[in-house]
This record gives sequence, C-alpha cells and structure tokens, in this order.
Amino acid sequence: MSSQPDNNTVYDIIVIGAGVVGPCIAKNMARQGRKVLIAEREWNLPNRIVGELMQPSGLKALRQLGMIKAINGIEAIEVDGYYIEFNGKEVTIDYPSKNVESKLNNTPVPGAIKTGDEDKVGSDSTISAKKWEECPHVKGCAFRHGEFLTNLRDQCLSEPNVTKLDGNVTGLVKDDDQRVCGIKVADKGVFKGRLIVNCDGIYSKFRKEIGEDYVPTVGSYFVGMELIDAKMPRPNHGHVLLGKHAPVLLYQISPHQSRILCAYRSKTLPKRNDVLQYLRENVLPQLPKSLCPSFKAALEKDGQDIYRAMPNQYLTARLNNTPGFICIGDSLNMRHPLTGGGMTVGLNDAVMFCKMLSDVSNEDLADEEIVLEKMIDFHNERKSLDVIINTLSIALYTLFAADSKYLTILQRGVFGYFLKGGLCIEEPISLLSGLTPSIWTLFVNFFAVAFYACQLNFIARGILGFPVALFENIGVLITAAFVLLPLLLKEILS
Ligand SMILES: Cc1cc2nc3c(=O)[nH]c(=O)nc-3n(C[C@H](O)[C@H](O)[C@H](O)COP(=O)(O)OP(=O)(O)OC[C@H]3O[C@@H](n4cnc5c(N)ncnc54)[C@H](O)[C@@H]3O)c2cc1C
Repeated sequence: MSSQPDNNTVYDIIVIGAGVVGPCIAKNMARQGRKVLIAEREWNLPNRIVGELMQPSGLKALRQLGMIKAINGIEAIEVDGYYIEFNGKEVTIDYPSKNVESKLNNTPVPGAIKTGDEDKVGSDSTISAKKWEECPHVKGCAFRHGEFLTNLRDQCLSEPNVTKLDGNVTGLVKDDDQRVCGIKVADKGVFKGRLIVNCDGIYSKFRKEIGEDYVPTVGSYFVGMELIDAKMPRPNHGHVLLGKHAPVLLYQISPHQSRILCAYRSKTLPKRNDVLQYLRENVLPQLPKSLCPSFKAALEKDGQDIYRAMPNQYLTARLNNTPGFICIGDSLNMRHPLTGGGMTVGLNDAVMFCKMLSDVSNEDLADEEIVLEKMIDFHNERKSLDVIINTLSIALYTLFAADSKYLTILQRGVFGYFLKGGLCIEEPISLLSGLTPSIWTLFVNFFAVAFYACQLNFIARGILGFPVALFENIGVLITAAFVLLPLLLKEILS
C-alpha cells in the first residue's frame, strides 16, 4: 500500500465505501495509472447477512476485474445450481453450460490482469481449480461475506496507487460551479478528487445527489440465521423452499455454516417476538426434516443474536448526471435479494465502468462533458443485465410469496413449469445466473409460465369446474401482466 491520505493531494479518483464494489473499482482504476483514495468507515471484518451467494455472471465479472482469487482461501462452497422445494415436491436446476457464457463479452478490463493468472480460480481447502476448469457447466459460489470482502480489500490495498482512508465520509465538497470535487471526512478534513465514485451501499447517504426523490422502497424483510452443520437436501446448491410461508432461501457458506434467509411480509422492521413466533410456527414445520435439528438449535441459541433482519429494497437506476459524482452498486440500483443478484449487477457495472473510463486521461476525469457522455453509454448498456436481474427478482418474489388466489395459481404454475425440464429450466436459470441478458427470453418465459398455470388450473378444476377455471384463468393472466409489465417498463424506461 502507498502513502498516508493527504489533504493537499488532488486524487484522480476518490471511492467512497469499501464494500463489494468499491475495492474493485479502486483496484482497477489504480491499474489504469490513476491515483486513488478509498474511504471506508469500517475496515474491520464485516459481519453481515448479505452478499453470500454469487451468481456465475458475478464470478465472470470478478475474472474480468482480475479479482477472482478473492473467493480463494475462505472455505468458499462451489454452487452448481438451485434446488427448489414446493409443498414437499422438489426440482433441481443446474447452472447453464459453459457455451452459454462463452457467447458473452468476457474480455478483461484493460490493465486488470498483470501477473497472468489473476483471472483464474485457484485451488484451496474447498475449491479444486482442476474440477472447476473441467466442469461442463458454469459455477456460482457461496462464502462468508466478511472474509470475501477482506480479500477484495486486501487486493485493492496492495496496489501502490491506492491510498486507504479510515473514516466516515460526512459530506461532499463542491466548487464554485457546484461540481463535486471532494469529500469531507469526520475528524480528518477535506480530500480533493477529480471524480468521486460513490459505492456507499444499501443505506446510501449520498445517492440523493442524483435527485432528492431518489429513494428506495421497502417491499419486505429477510430474517437471517446461521445454521451449524445443517444437513442440506442438495449439497452445493442454493435452496429455495416454498410453501405456506413466504419464501425461504438457504445455502452453505462454509463447510460448517449455512445461511438461512426467511422472507417476512412486512414493510417495517418486524418485532422480535413476532419474528420468533413466525419462525417457530410457520417456517419450522414446513422445513425439510433434515434441516430441522440445526434450525431448532439456531432458534434456541442464548441471547439476543438469534436472527438479524434486513430490508429488501428496490430502486431502479438513474442516469449519473451529477458533475464530478457517480453512484455505482447498491447506491445506484437495488433489487430483491431472493435471486442473489446484487453483487452480480454491481460487479458487472464495475467492469463496464472501468472499461468505459479506460481511454479517459486522468486530467479529463474532471471534464464533465466527457464523463457525462460515458455515463449515458453506461446507463444504457448496463440495462441489458440490470433489467433482467431486477425484474426477475421482484416478479419471482411476488409469485413465490403468493398472497392471493391468482398469485397462488401462478406459483403452482412456476413450479410445474420447472418440473417440465428442458428449456423450461435452462432458460430461467440462464436468466437468473445473469448469462442471458435478453428481455425477450424473460418475457416469453414469464408468459409461458402464466399459460401453463392456466392449463394446470383447468386440469385441477376438471370438466365440471371448467367455467370457474375459465373465470380464474382470466384473472391469472391479468395478474401476470400486472406483475411483469409495469416492472419491465419501469426498468427499461428509467
Ligand atoms: C438480505 C440481503 C441478502 C443479500 N444476499 C445477496 C446474495 O446472496 N448475493 C448477492 O449477489 N447479493 C446479495 N445481496 C445484495 C448485496 O449485498 C449488495 O448488492 C452488495 O453488497 C452491494 O455492494 P456495494 O459495494 O454497493 O455496497 P456494500 O457492499 O453495502 O458496501 C458499502 C460500503 O460503504 C461503506 N460506507 C457506507 N457509508 C459510508 C460513509 N459515509 N463513509 C465511509 N464508508 C461508508 C460501508 O461501511 C460498506 O463497507 C443481499 C442483500 C440483502 C439486503
């Protein structure tokens, strides 16, 4: 690592936040020959329930950033796909073949790969690089968030051009033309930069620079617990458990630890007693038998720290048109965590951003017009992935957490559609893993599910129930349109 933070230096780039996205941008900017300052208020090992399952497209982005080895040395667990259980029935969906990924632009960020193998997964106690290489399908990965972040931070801080700043950023500094030109840091004063890149995450303090009304909505909460030595129904798979309760997510994050995230239908922070009662009475009885001992043990843990709750927020992206200031990651854009797409979007944005700025000189980083032109391209080009991941996450959550008659019919339709296999699972998993950025594929599959739900409803109602089923199916198709189309339009037109 280089020098101490200097109040008299004008940095080329100042990054606010060393979460998932910040260190990736800082490292790659430094490798492009820029002087970078990265400010973070908490450099100690974070202990959060977020960002623990990375989709294949997120890993692809890490390779392009030359930072894939951040998943090594942390007892990460390889993920081969998803296991979905619905009222006792199950389906396993493996990630797509490597051919699907090879059709995408996989070129690294200019300057990202210096030592030759920074885009290759390494071997360690839980990952075999050889197995990884030889596997015909792409892989995802799950890990302890804090350890992963520490690896990203270490890689970034090992760059000679990166300066670490330990402090809470309390404000932005503007010049006479109202252009953002620096940050104010508690007890440390002002630091000047040509371009301020804000990666301050979910509770972003600074995104309002893009617009006062740029605020996320909270749709529900996730209640997270750690299970010890849980017997997973399908090891090396992300688990989605559906039933009478809101969806439950489960994945192994180390050889002995698994994360369980239980959706909770509330737009405000749920009360502790209500949550504990919900977990005991609604979730526990519905869980696969093999999981019950570890779930019960987690519930019976001493003290207050049985679970942690996080809001599931939604925020469509806006054009970064504030002079001198750019938001990336959760500060720009959020979706439901059900599909584990947040890091994938953030890291792919980091790749695109660093590529787009690679031909801008250090001096020109301060040129509003040059940067705005790049940001218009960035805003438009990132949509191909972001629209899919965001829309899919909210639409799937709405169906999986079905709380009305028509949504329940659709929920049955989704599961039935997956059971058909073939393209009915290959295309949805390609969308979810971030490897098919095609709005058309999303549209076609969503309505194929809706029509299949109607077909299943006709069968369930039988000949005598035909008129009722017909009436219900009209409601189902209207509901499906209301779930998907406004979301899709909002994302496309944002
Ligand atoms: C319940 C839940 C589960 C999730 N699970 C997944 C998952 O499995 N897979 C997935 O891909 N995504 C998941 N996500 C989303 C994922 O966590 C985020 O998309 C990702 O962390 C965003 O990265 P970021 O760098 O933008 O923000 P963060 O990772 O949140 O980093 C922000 C950083 O900024 C720092 N900071 C903030 N303000 C200041 C300040 N004023 N001064 C200095 N530093 C500051 C913070 O300390 C933090 O280190 C989940 C989200 C939730 C809510």
